[in-house]
Amino acid sequence: MGYIELDVIDQPKRIVVGIDLGTTNSLAAVFEDGRPRVLHPEGQSGIVPSVVYVPAEGLPIVGANGKAHAVDDPKHTIFSIKRFMGRGLSDIEDDLSTLPYDVRETERGLVQIDLHGKTWTPQQLSSLIIGAVLEKVRVATGGAEVTGVVITVPAYFDDAQRHATRDAAKLAGVDVLRIVNEPTAASLAYGLDQKSEGTVAVFDLGGGTFDVSVLSIEDGVFQVLATNGDTRLGGDDIDRTLVDLARTELADQVPAETLTDPAFLQAARLAAEHCKIALSKDPEHEMHLSLPGLNWRRTVTRAEMESLARPLIDRALACCKRALADAELEVADIEEVVLVGGSTRMPLVRSAVQEFFGREPHTALDPDEVVALGAAIQAHVLTGGTRDILLMDVTPLSMGIETVGGAVAKMIERNSTIPCSHNEGFTTYAEGQTGINFNVVQGEREMAADCRSLGKFELKGIPPMPAGMPRVAVRFALDADGMLTVTAKEESTGALASIDIQPMHGLTDEEVETMLSAGFENAQEDFDRRRVVDLRTEIGTMMAAVEKNMAAAEDALDQETFEDLLAAMASGQAAQKSDDLKTVQSARDLLETASTPLAAVLMDSVVKQAVSGKKLDEV
Ligand code: ADP
Ligand code: MG
Repeated sequence: MGYIELDVIDQPKRIVVGIDLGTTNSLAAVFEDGRPRVLHPEGQSGIVPSVVYVPAEGLPIVGANGKAHAVDDPKHTIFSIKRFMGRGLSDIEDDLSTLPYDVRETERGLVQIDLHGKTWTPQQLSSLIIGAVLEKVRVATGGAEVTGVVITVPAYFDDAQRHATRDAAKLAGVDVLRIVNEPTAASLAYGLDQKSEGTVAVFDLGGGTFDVSVLSIEDGVFQVLATNGDTRLGGDDIDRTLVDLARTELADQVPAETLTDPAFLQAARLAAEHCKIALSKDPEHEMHLSLPGLNWRRTVTRAEMESLARPLIDRALACCKRALADAELEVADIEEVVLVGGSTRMPLVRSAVQEFFGREPHTALDPDEVVALGAAIQAHVLTGGTRDILLMDVTPLSMGIETVGGAVAKMIERNSTIPCSHNEGFTTYAEGQTGINFNVVQGEREMAADCRSLGKFELKGIPPMPAGMPRVAVRFALDADGMLTVTAKEESTGALASIDIQPMHGLTDEEVETMLSAGFENAQEDFDRRRVVDLRTEIGTMMAAVEKNMAAAEDALDQETFEDLLAAMASGQAAQKSDDLKTVQSARDLLETASTPLAAVLMDSVVKQAVSGKKLDEV
C-alpha cells in the first residue's frame, strides 16, 4: 500500500508594516502582541542605510553594502535621495554644487540622475530602498506577506513630495495604506494620542536634516500647528566638523590633492561618524583614519566634540524658537517634547533641548526607531486593530524610597511586569515626628544618592508619637503606561499623601544600561555602605532608648555596668560618624551587650507589662 502525499501549503502570514523612509536610514516595524517593534533578521540590524550604489554592470546594491562603495566609487553611490523626491532642479539648487553625480531635469520638471548612461528617478531609487527594507521584513518574519504599508514623510512635505513617496512604494510593489507625518508617528509611538488634548514639540535631528514640529492633540487627533527646520543641518554636519579637524591637522603632512580626494573625504567622513557615535557613550575616543600611505590617529574628547557641535545645535534651537513663534505659543505652552533621529542620542543635544523647553523630553524609545514604531501603530489601527498598547511591559530599573541614612528600600524590582504594585509598612525614626519626607528613587544601587530621584513628597499630619509607633503604609503602583503613583498613609489618623511620576521620563537606553551595570559593579561596595547605614540607624535607635532611660540606668545598674554602658554610648556616638563597616559593626555589638542589663532592669520595672518580649530599642 502506498502513501497518499498531501501537498500542504503553508499559508504565509499576512502583515501590515510601518516604514520610516529616512534621508539617512530606513526601517520597518510591525505591531504585534500589543506593541510595535522594529523588524530585523536575527542577529542583524533592521536599519537599511538609505544609499543605493549603481555599478556599471549588474544590479544596484542597496543599504550598508551600497554605502561601502562611497569610498571607491562616490560618483555612483547615491545618498540622501529623499531630498530629490518630488522636486525640480530649482528646489535643490543649493545641493547641486556638492553632488558628485549628474543631475538633470525631466520634461515635467522633476529631478533625474544619470548613472552609467541610464537615468534614474528619485522614486525608482527610493523604491529600491523600500525593497531592501521589505526584504529585511521578509527574512525577519520567516516570509510573511506584506499586504500594506504606512510610510512616513516630514510634516513639511508638499503634495508632490508625498506623491513621489507613494509612487516609490508602488514601484516596490506594496500597497500604501497611508502617508503619515513623521512627528505624528513619533507622538503615536509615545502614546500621546491618548491624551485628550495637549501640545507637543517633536525635535528631529537626523543625518542630514533637522525638523521641529509643533503639534496639537485633540481627542486623539493630531494637527500640525507649525514646522520649522533646516534641510542642511544634521549629524552629517557634526561629522563634517571632525573631518575638517582631520584636514586641518593633516594639512602639512599630506599633499593638498589628497585632502580633497573623494576617497579620502569619504573615509574621513566614516571615521568621523564612528568617532562621534562613540563619544555619545564615552568621554573620549580615538579617531582613526587609514588609507594607503596614511595612518592618522587623534584622540577627541566629548568636550571638544561638543564645542565643535554647539553652533549647530544652536541653529536647531533657533528653528525651535521660530516654530513656536509661528504657532503663536510660548515655550511654557509645550506639554510634551519628543526626541527623534539618531543625532538626538548625543548627550549635548538632549541637554540643550531639555534646557530650551524647560522640561525633560521623551527618550524612552530609541530615537531612530520611534518613527517606524509609530507608523506600525498607524498601520495596525488602519487595518482594524485596536490600540490599547503597552509601551513597555517590564520596568527596566528598580524603584524604591529613600529610608533613614540614605539607604534605598526597593519597592518594585527591575524587570517586574507592569502593571504591578507593592505595599510596605514604614515607621518614624525620630520621637514625636509629625511628618515624613519621601524621596522616590529609581536605580539598582543601594544608596539613594547613587540612584536617580524621581520625585519627592511629604506626608504631614502624623500625630506626635514615640519613634517607631506610627504605622505608615506605602504603596507603589505602576500602571500599564509606566505611570508610577506612590501613596503613603498613616493608619491611625488616615493622613494621606501621594505623588504621580512618570518613571521612564528622560531615561535613555544608555542611561538605563549605565545604571544597571553600575548596580552590578558596585554590588559589594554598595552592600557594605548600606550595611553601615543600617547599623548606624540601629545604633541611633539604641542610643535614644538608653538616653531616655539614663536616670533609671544610673540608679539600677552597678557602677561597672553603668560605666561599660557609658563607654559603649561613647563608641556608638563615634561610630555615627564612621563609614567603616568593622568600626560601626563592633560599636553596635558593644552597645547591644552593654545595654542588655539595662533592658533586663527595665523589664522588671513599671513598664514591664507594656514591653514584655521587646528588645530595649523597641521600648
Ligand atoms: P534620518 O532621519 O535622516 O534618516 P536618522 O534618524 O537615522 O536619520 O539619524 C542618522 C544620524 O544619526 C546620523 O548622522 C548618525 O551619525 C547619527 N547617530 C546615530 N547614532 C548616534 C549616536 N549614538 N550618537 C550620535 N549620533 C548618532
Ligand atoms: Mg528620520
